[in-house]
Amino acid sequence: MAGVKTTPEIKEITKIERIGAHSHIRGLGLDDTLEARAVSQGMVGQKDARRAAGVILKMIQAGQIAGRAILLAGQPGTGKTAIAMGMSKALGEETPFAMMAASEIFSLEMSKTEALSQAFRKAIGVRIKEETEIIEGEVVEIEIDRPAATGSAAKTGKVTLKTTEMETIYDLGQKMIESLQKEKVQAGDVIAIDKASGRISKLGRSFARSRDYDAMGPATKFVQCPEGELQKRKEVVHVVTLHEIDVINSRSQGFLALFAGDTGEIRSEVREQIDGKVAEWREEGKADIVPGVLFIDEVHMLDIECFSFLNRALENDLAPIVVVATNRGITKIRGTNYKSPHGIPIDLLDRLLIIQTKPYSEEELRLIIDIRCEEEDVEMSDDAKELLTKIGTETSLRYAMQLITASYLISKRRKVAEVDIEDVSKAYSLFCDVQRSSQFLKEYASDYMF
Ligand code: ATP
Repeated sequence: MAGVKTTPEIKEITKIERIGAHSHIRGLGLDDTLEARAVSQGMVGQKDARRAAGVILKMIQAGQIAGRAILLAGQPGTGKTAIAMGMSKALGEETPFAMMAASEIFSLEMSKTEALSQAFRKAIGVRIKEETEIIEGEVVEIEIDRPAATGSAAKTGKVTLKTTEMETIYDLGQKMIESLQKEKVQAGDVIAIDKASGRISKLGRSFARSRDYDAMGPATKFVQCPEGELQKRKEVVHVVTLHEIDVINSRSQGFLALFAGDTGEIRSEVREQIDGKVAEWREEGKADIVPGVLFIDEVHMLDIECFSFLNRALENDLAPIVVVATNRGITKIRGTNYKSPHGIPIDLLDRLLIIQTKPYSEEELRLIIDIRCEEEDVEMSDDAKELLTKIGTETSLRYAMQLITASYLISKRRKVAEVDIEDVSKAYSLFCDVQRSSQFLKEYASDYMF
């Protein structure tokens, strides 16, 4: 696709970053009638909020959400982020999810509106359909030049494919050799080579062979030539975000900036050029837009300029689903002397569908802890889980969840298979929760600078 560069690999990296506190959330856990199941798709309790989020999903799917946004109001740790993520998961695996705390926009590196523009564009996916040349055929012969003396990885090689019309010899690059090894390709297998990426995949039909690829010596040859096929041009689809396309095409940045997260400001001409290109691809049927979810936590930290940006941005054709969250009641709107519910101006409040989240019961906390232990692959005794639940009720769910990994590491030193009550107590005594930390600060106030 000429003119604008896209890099599918970047998408995988964004996915990896998402594995963390919310990796157990796989959807909203609703049944067909939009009722919230008690425990489903990693979600526990918070039934009314999940149900409301499900109704909003239906509105999104029916295209009835334009110009509106969602506000999740509730105390810290009541699952606001989890619900926003559940919505994005329920919209489909490809749906981009971008998350930011409103305070992040106050940086010296870029203007507030630039930070918001980038956040919006991180939450808009472009599904690009590209045609790539794929050669499919039966492997006749593999020839690898493996420096046997050092035992190091092979650097060059050849593969001969038998297709219906001809026998073709491919010179293998390092990447192709790696995929050959990964797929354990042997002569007789039917493989596909993506000429653009150099990736090799083994297709269904394979012929039993006595020798494994791994056992091959330097420059080993296998020969077998039943008929194969030649298939050219296949459609491949990948989703990248508008922000990724912006960064890759920004002359001053280059795509490595995506790894560092330090993308700086993007010039508006770059964005305009990309929007134009994407519009062209859409017209030609080469691309579709995948609206994602943008989650803005602590929304009361935005100021009046940002709120007017949001108001305008929600009207845009390409707007993602914007979910904002706060735990504030009536408070001052930043940058003004006026007070308003949640610190949000009335004109934006008017556009919001408000969902309330409520504190968890002890039983629900226990179930979330169970799910997290499983997610983190931590074996924990019932007593230890009970203690963690108690700690969670008295401090916070977040704190209790953090103690899972800490207690696990402590139990490892005792060389036991299961985290027990003593590991949890030890972790509890090593790491302060907020209450204990502030108590300590009060007691030793004179030793600190204020
Ligand atoms: P804050 O206001 O501090 O940002 P929050 O309301 O966004 O908090 P989360 O971050 O969503 O709270 O919740 C804290 C942790 O508990 C997360 O790891 C989240 O995935 C998990 N969690 C919260 N609610 C649920 C739930 N209903 N089911 C399963 N896991 C949950």
